[in-house]
Amino acid sequence: MDTRASAIEAIGNTPLIRLKGPSERTGCEILGKAEFMNPGQSVKDRAALFIIRDAVKRGTLKPGGIIVEGTAGNTGIGLALVGNALGYRSVIVIPETQSQEKKDMLRIAGAELIEVPAVPYKNPNNYIKVSQRIAEELNRTHPQGAIWANQFDNVANRQGHIETTAQEIWQQTDGKVDGFICAVGTGGTLAGTGIGLKEKNPNIKIGLADPHGAALYNYYAHGELKSEGSSISEGIGQGRITANLEDAPIDTPYRISDEEGLLINFELLQNEGLCLGGSSGINVAGAIRLAKELGPGHTIVTVLCDYGTRYQGKMFNPTFLREKGLPVPEWMERKSDIAI
Ligand code: PMP
Repeated sequence: MDTRASAIEAIGNTPLIRLKGPSERTGCEILGKAEFMNPGQSVKDRAALFIIRDAVKRGTLKPGGIIVEGTAGNTGIGLALVGNALGYRSVIVIPETQSQEKKDMLRIAGAELIEVPAVPYKNPNNYIKVSQRIAEELNRTHPQGAIWANQFDNVANRQGHIETTAQEIWQQTDGKVDGFICAVGTGGTLAGTGIGLKEKNPNIKIGLADPHGAALYNYYAHGELKSEGSSISEGIGQGRITANLEDAPIDTPYRISDEEGLLINFELLQNEGLCLGGSSGINVAGAIRLAKELGPGHTIVTVLCDYGTRYQGKMFNPTFLREKGLPVPEWMERKSDIAI
């Protein structure tokens, strides 16, 4: 018998997949942690589970309580599903610019969805600030209370990656890992996995793959939080040092364009059967840059954050890509010429 007691037990222990093209081109082993294989189809299931468990342990989340969060979508999906499995209602605040597929998934998971205009973090109507206010209000008025998951500044998020992602990568590579790199939304994945791996071997290089429009590349390269340009990627692109990012052991930052990431997405889909979201393309592009810096013969691990069907209307939609001035691969519009 090989069974899991519940869907929650199926979170984590994801495979490490060798990425053939990127490995062959660099002479390194480039391995992707298949986080799209979690029950909520993203890396954020781990953070959701650790945040909920931590709140239960602290006594802030009580039986029948409500989980409230502001999210680009994936954390909300994780919280809603883990909440369903454990008997908690969820209220999710999302910027209206995020993909329809993620909003649809949140609705069918039973989350109460509140869409708000996308405004900067410092604006009081930013989705994160709105979610905090709703959590405080519900905690006052709901008999069983409510918690604000606060994924950006709640370090239970990165603790999940210290205790699971980093340990899994160490075991899966038999300790033969030379580099780890990914992008930052909250910073939980990068800081947590980085801290966990450095505890095993401080020589492991930790890289940041930052999309355009984020401020972290400039911060880690030049000590200044400054953003330039913009990106279609969702769930990544941070403008401040969150609590999860504090003391993150980042050795080498890279800035990755949408085009560089998307071409990797299209290659992995057509040549390797991996249908991934945009942040995964940016992560693998970052892994290739780190591999080139370290030289042939090294093993680099990155994160395949979520599944590509979550973005069918955007990065896999020729009209959307053209509007953004991004490349449209020929196969995306190919029609069958088979006669019937
Ligand atoms: N990729 C996607 C698709 C995400 O939704 C997120 C989380 N917002 C990330 C990457 C970044 O993960 P983290 O929050 O751990 O930095």
